[in-house]
Amino acid sequence: MVRTRFAPSPTGYLHIGGARTALYCWLYSRKTNGRFILRIEDTDLERSTKESVQAILDAMAWLKLDYDEGPFYQTHHFDRYREVIDEMLKQGTAYRCYCSKERLEALREQQIANKEKPRYDGHCRHLTQTQEGPFVVRFKNPEEGVVEFDDLIRGKLVFANQELDDLIIARSDGTPTYNFTVVVDDMDMQITHVMRGDDHINNTPRQINIFRALNKTPPHYAHIPMILGSDGKRLSKRHGAVGVMQYREDGFLPQALLNYLVRLGWSHGDQEIFSMDELIQYFDLSSVNRAAAAINPEKLLWLNQHYIKHGDVAETMKELAWQLEKLGINTNDGPPLTEIIKAQGERTKTLKEMAERSRYFFEEVTMSDEMKLHFTSEIKPALKILREKLSELSSWSKEAIHEVLQATAESQGLKLGKLAQPVRVAVTGGTISPPLDVTMVLIGRDRVLERLDLV
Ligand code: GLU
Repeated sequence: MVRTRFAPSPTGYLHIGGARTALYCWLYSRKTNGRFILRIEDTDLERSTKESVQAILDAMAWLKLDYDEGPFYQTHHFDRYREVIDEMLKQGTAYRCYCSKERLEALREQQIANKEKPRYDGHCRHLTQTQEGPFVVRFKNPEEGVVEFDDLIRGKLVFANQELDDLIIARSDGTPTYNFTVVVDDMDMQITHVMRGDDHINNTPRQINIFRALNKTPPHYAHIPMILGSDGKRLSKRHGAVGVMQYREDGFLPQALLNYLVRLGWSHGDQEIFSMDELIQYFDLSSVNRAAAAINPEKLLWLNQHYIKHGDVAETMKELAWQLEKLGINTNDGPPLTEIIKAQGERTKTLKEMAERSRYFFEEVTMSDEMKLHFTSEIKPALKILREKLSELSSWSKEAIHEVLQATAESQGLKLGKLAQPVRVAVTGGTISPPLDVTMVLIGRDRVLERLDLV
């Protein structure tokens, strides 16, 4: 059975590269009826924070990337790591290294002076006696031969063992290091497919060697190409890269973000819009691109508007309600959010924008002096007549309102457009809104009449 895992380090927000990795792992496990595991790699005690762990969990929940096992925390596994290190020392696949900082520094300087790649020279590799004093534990990497593996995205990769030095697996304070803990956990969790960013590609031969030293078969590996900024450079904060939850703040729908992320590095013909079921059906590692993909903020906006208009209404309502609440807007007294989504979906690309432009459906309008300039002496009488006709309408419908608007304009010798804008300003406080008749239906008769009275 396929077992994938997403293994973020909680040293910052979950950024879109991480979210895409999580999505690919999730899709692959769902596609294969496998299991998806979440493992928090929090062994870097100085850089890991509780807030980052929470940000990861929140982002996974918001994106609905549900995991079958976990979250597991590496800091809960220290006894197990120690046990494996002891076993490796016993077996002779690892050794204690007593080299002082000074010795290692001198070695490094000499290697650099000789134009060699700095690496540990194996000084303690053949010590037979344990010694006094502080030590680290190093993995005894094979000295000869190559490590070869078939990357599920990149194809066959070969690394010479000579290029890999004896990596430290436990520091002098006994704490285990990254490449080692990953192997122990991938082994214990019986991970069959490791999918991760290709910035990890140089770690993979080291990890495979550790697996072999433990007499275990390594998992399959798939290294996902990086995400680039729009200038073709590796994505970073400079490009405005932010955590996943910032996308929620900015008014994006989870489904839009997922659809966007999946296409950053994967395609299925020229299809752009995918339901989750389609993604599960079509996703495959063999169609993940080898080349890095660049972000495309315009496309994300386009997708978001698509999902606002055609996506899951309950989801959109939930996000819109959240945005309105953040703006302090009480939605109890006003039109149903589904109607607002229908009316505003054509003209807003994010739910943040939609919320900001929907205040007048729920609250009294405040009007700037500039807006009041719309109410000219020519318009004011027309607004009075309109108000009377609206109050007499037997049904408060779009069609009825439209007729009244038209009739009023005609009776006053005005073009409809000339009347419509001041009416819009009177009932919404601004010049931008959905079609006026729809807007007025949603605002409701009482509020419309009150607002016209204030002109
Ligand atoms: N914890 C690593 C990171 O966040 C990922 C390790 C892995 O997937 O093997 O970059």
